[in-house]
Amino acid sequence: MKKPKIETVCSTCCWCDKRIGENQEVLCLGSKKRPGIDLSKYEGDIMQVTMATIDKTLWAIIPTAESDARKEGKDILFTLCSDECGIELKEALNQDEKLGDIIFNHKLN
Ligand SMILES: [Zn+2]
Repeated sequence: MKKPKIETVCSTCCWCDKRIGENQEVLCLGSKKRPGIDLSKYEGDIMQVTMATIDKTLWAIIPTAESDARKEGKDILFTLCSDECGIELKEALNQDEKLGDIIFNHKLN
């Protein structure tokens, strides 16, 4: 998969790939990485998260160490277009928490 621009990832729903309009609210789901996983080379950039339980690869934003997101304990950010997509992603992440390599836990804001 070709790597998209970070601006594109910030304005595209990671779950359904829908473009989020400029006047539309962008929802964000923050996840914590598993202890011992080093994402520092992705900071301020995007990375692919392959879900362990479903055949889906998502683009996630990795905030920098100085960012507010990181201060709130969010290591991985997912952009979402709607609550519906958020619920579906949360369900997938719940499964991934148990089986996946990267995601540790998550919360919707
Ligand atoms: Zn969506």
